[in-house]
Amino acid sequence: MDNDASHTVNFAKPPPKAHLGIYDLAIIGGGLGGLALGIQSAKAGYKTILFEKERYPFHKVCGEYVSLESWNFLEDLGVPLSQMNLPIINRLLVTAPNGKELEKDLPLGGFGISRYKLDSMLAQIARENGVNVIESTKIEEVKFDNEIFTLQSGAELRCQSRIVAGAFGKRSNLDVKWKRKFILQKQNKLNNYIAVKYHIKINWPADLIALHNFKNGYCGISQIEDGEYCLCYLTTAKNLELSGNSIQQMEKQILHENPHLKRIFSEASMLYPSPVTISHISFSKKTQVHNHILMIGDAAGMITPLCGNGMSMALHGSKIAFEQIHLFLQNRVPRWQMEQDYEKAWQQHFAARLKTGRFIQKFFGSPVLSGMLISVLKPVPAITTRLINATHGQPF
Ligand SMILES: Cc1cc2nc3c(=O)[nH]c(=O)nc-3n(C[C@H](O)[C@H](O)[C@H](O)COP(=O)(O)OP(=O)(O)OC[C@H]3O[C@@H](n4cnc5c(N)ncnc54)[C@H](O)[C@@H]3O)c2cc1C
Repeated sequence: MDNDASHTVNFAKPPPKAHLGIYDLAIIGGGLGGLALGIQSAKAGYKTILFEKERYPFHKVCGEYVSLESWNFLEDLGVPLSQMNLPIINRLLVTAPNGKELEKDLPLGGFGISRYKLDSMLAQIARENGVNVIESTKIEEVKFDNEIFTLQSGAELRCQSRIVAGAFGKRSNLDVKWKRKFILQKQNKLNNYIAVKYHIKINWPADLIALHNFKNGYCGISQIEDGEYCLCYLTTAKNLELSGNSIQQMEKQILHENPHLKRIFSEASMLYPSPVTISHISFSKKTQVHNHILMIGDAAGMITPLCGNGMSMALHGSKIAFEQIHLFLQNRVPRWQMEQDYEKAWQQHFAARLKTGRFIQKFFGSPVLSGMLISVLKPVPAITTRLINATHGQPF
């Protein structure tokens, strides 16, 4: 009887909370920005923890064309790109919905690699360097009190850290919870997109990336590893709604009006049973620091995908953030200065690129404007080069 009673009491008690300890840096989100930051921090000897809500490896909606500005940085982090026989892409083809074409050499160019491969390789490198990578864990709350952050996932898991980096991508549960300004904005031309990605097999040049416009969207195609191709498009949520919320119907009715896309979709063998999709994509301005949390990558500001360098911005942003974090952890600057200097450096490097991206986005997806843009740019290649350069950075 006594035994039974004591069992009853034990079962009624909540289990002890898992406390993962106190860290120098806690990173929320294990995409490119978060993982690159974690590796730099652990290599410098800081106690680093990273939370990722998914489990590696996993697919992500992305065009998977990485601007060459990131090549050296990724190799320095430990990704052996030179040994991976990846496609180098140095030509761009843009088409209007009516099929009109413009082809251009890319001033810097890029390479192709899937996020499935790149993110999981970086996660492995992060672990090898000592980052405590916690997968399948969504951070739900972050509190800052008395110079220390407390992070929480559910009722069970907690950890504390001197610095927190928010590298949770385009739109996360935390953006909604914290009512960040871009979440509260009314729907407009820059904040209600959806995106769809396939991996395909097709006969297509390895050195060519194409951006095919269709009504209210554009679709990119370029090679990744193992002779596969990434076919990824961005369009308005309205386009999907008009197609009875059916992706297949939307592709048939709207994308296939561009003869290039019709051919690609008919010739491609799809490598997944169904595509990877995301919604609620916003290119509205964001803040780089929120309640003392340093935002990295898309969480700090997202460039329109047609510029093809959001990944490089996330990687470069992690380097800029780490420079400031390092100074703070060495007690060389106070917190307010770390935050202010990070924001300033971020603006200096990326604000103009984002603005140009938003400007060009207006032409893409409009049958009339994209056709006009191609007609205007075709005879004056120098303007196209200037536009491409304005949305890209230099190796860092
Ligand atoms: C359609 C489309 C095509 C694109 N094509 C290209 C391209 O070809 N080239 C290019 O350079 N860029 C491209 N981009 C942009 C690029 O994908 C992003 O800029 C880049 O992924 C940003 O990296 P990140 O680390 O900031 O975010 P992400 O890579 O999105 O990583 C964020 C991570 O945080 C995790 N997370 C979110 N919330 C939580 C939480 N609460 N707790 C724990 N984990 C959390 C997510 O699971 C995710 O893994 C494209 C974007 C879109 C939408």
